[in-house]
Amino acid sequence: MFSKPLTLFRVFGFEVKADWSWLILGALIVWSLAQGLFPAWYKGLDPAAYWIMGVAGAIGLFLSIVFHELWHSLIARKYGLDMRGITLFLFGGVAEMGDEPPSPKAEFFLAVAGPVSSVVLASVLLAVSYFIAGGGPMTPVTGVLNYLGYLNFILAAFNLIPAFPLDGGRVLRAILWGSWNDLRRATRVASSVGAVIGAALMALGALQFFLGRSVGGLWTLIIGMFVRGAAKSSYRQLLFRRALEGVPVRKFMAADAVSVAPGTTVAKLVEDYIYKYQFKMYPVVDGGDLVGCVTLDQIKGLTPEDRVSRTVGELARGCSPDNTIGPDEDVLKALSLMQKTGRSRLIVADGGKLAGVIALKDIMGYIALKLDLEEM
Ligand SMILES: [Zn+2]
Repeated sequence: MFSKPLTLFRVFGFEVKADWSWLILGALIVWSLAQGLFPAWYKGLDPAAYWIMGVAGAIGLFLSIVFHELWHSLIARKYGLDMRGITLFLFGGVAEMGDEPPSPKAEFFLAVAGPVSSVVLASVLLAVSYFIAGGGPMTPVTGVLNYLGYLNFILAAFNLIPAFPLDGGRVLRAILWGSWNDLRRATRVASSVGAVIGAALMALGALQFFLGRSVGGLWTLIIGMFVRGAAKSSYRQLLFRRALEGVPVRKFMAADAVSVAPGTTVAKLVEDYIYKYQFKMYPVVDGGDLVGCVTLDQIKGLTPEDRVSRTVGELARGCSPDNTIGPDEDVLKALSLMQKTGRSRLIVADGGKLAGVIALKDIMGYIALKLDLEEM
């Protein structure tokens, strides 16, 4: 259900990850800088120089977004929020938060940290590029710095659009939250504003498109769709959180979970369990004790002879915090673990015993029913 992004590097303890869409986007940016923007802005440079500038510009753009998100993350950490890392998507980045900010004030500073850092970086880059150029024409180096300066201003401006969950929308939510003292209402209004702005951008894009500005129009349309989608899903996310807050894993787990005895052969596991239940992971239980778990991936490489001769007990690996959770832990924790690891089922273990299994679809079904009944 969740596709896992690619981990690139770590900075100040935050993992920087990129969505696969970034590879395509990166190539597109290099191309449009080298063939479009740089030749138009800085005339008369070597054609090869434009390509090198294009690559440097794309890397600079990427690092600018990381810089912006990093400041969100640093301020969030200061407020004691559990930050998982920074993930770059098609339209910038997301500093992944485990929780909602603790107070309107925290949310406000957390939200403005990114745009403020981008404005500071933009000013420095522009000052440096104009200072080195000294009134003369831009060289490839100053040209890229100059471009990145303007880019960071645009990055700050885009993020300040008051469309939740963009930074500007978070500022709006912080103000509403502070004055109403009601996080849910503030989120609902801020994301409604975001959805309206998204729809307006889409309409503007369509208008541009019909007026003959097809590329610009298409971009505005896509950004509008993105803003609208993000606004809607972030309100849903809040409802999710609210619906699941303080609910223990025990409530959702299937206590009569399918388990395998260690003496079972792999061939039997395939025939009697994998084909029958179609799960990718099975807890291995020996007389009530949880021995470990066996996954589909472990079996894939085995020859037919091995499958007949080897047992599940030989293959089973100890259950790790990556696939196991306690019955009294918060179900939100289970959900975020599923999201992080891409698993849709987790083993519920209680003091070395198998307590059950918790599945994503059961949690989702509960949320859907709860939202339907209470119409939050
Ligand atoms: Zn931001």
